[in-house]
Amino acid sequence: MNSEPIATRATNAETMKLLGGALCLDFVNTVDWRLTSQPTEWLTDYGVLVRWAVHAGGLDLETGDRLITGAERDLKAASRVLGRAIAIRETLHRLFLGDTIDPLDLNRFNAAFVEAPSRIGLAHDGDELAWAIEGGEERLDAVLAPVLWSAAELLASPERLRVRRCADHACGWIFLDASRSARRQWCAMEDCGNRNKARRHYSRSKQEKASQSAQ
Ligand SMILES: [Zn+2]
Repeated sequence: MNSEPIATRATNAETMKLLGGALCLDFVNTVDWRLTSQPTEWLTDYGVLVRWAVHAGGLDLETGDRLITGAERDLKAASRVLGRAIAIRETLHRLFLGDTIDPLDLNRFNAAFVEAPSRIGLAHDGDELAWAIEGGEERLDAVLAPVLWSAAELLASPERLRVRRCADHACGWIFLDASRSARRQWCAMEDCGNRNKARRHYSRSKQEKASQSAQ
């Protein structure tokens, strides 16, 4: 990501699109228009981070509510976790898209992974099963753990080579290309795909008109 200040906006985490195909990739996509000079940051406070994690399936609602209550009691700690979340997100972005693995980034990832609370089994919420996080009710950084597990699994698998960036010039979202042809270009056809198709169509018809009038 470039070093320009990130424009922020009031967000509703529940409206965020989940197109990455893996929790960790959806996490990397919590910045919009990453390739422009003014990317938009979605993770504007700890509460948004937790609500995003619930929305994306990383945390159950009850744990999310408890973490938000805990954050209200310790705003400083919550803002530290948010800062760490954003730093690890940028590390993940580089690890997934880099041509080679940067050992410094790998160290950063491993440090965050080791520090994160571990999985202590499965918990159920009705018929739904999810990982139970050690200290998940008190540790504010529990919100990051599922993202780190997801990232470790994907980075260590051959699927890592199927992580691509949307072909749009500004979007910058990344996704796991699960298409059989392995030629998925867009984060979403109905979004970047159509916009680019329309742009190409427009410039082609402009060229055709120009060449017709030149004849
Ligand atoms: Zn896109």
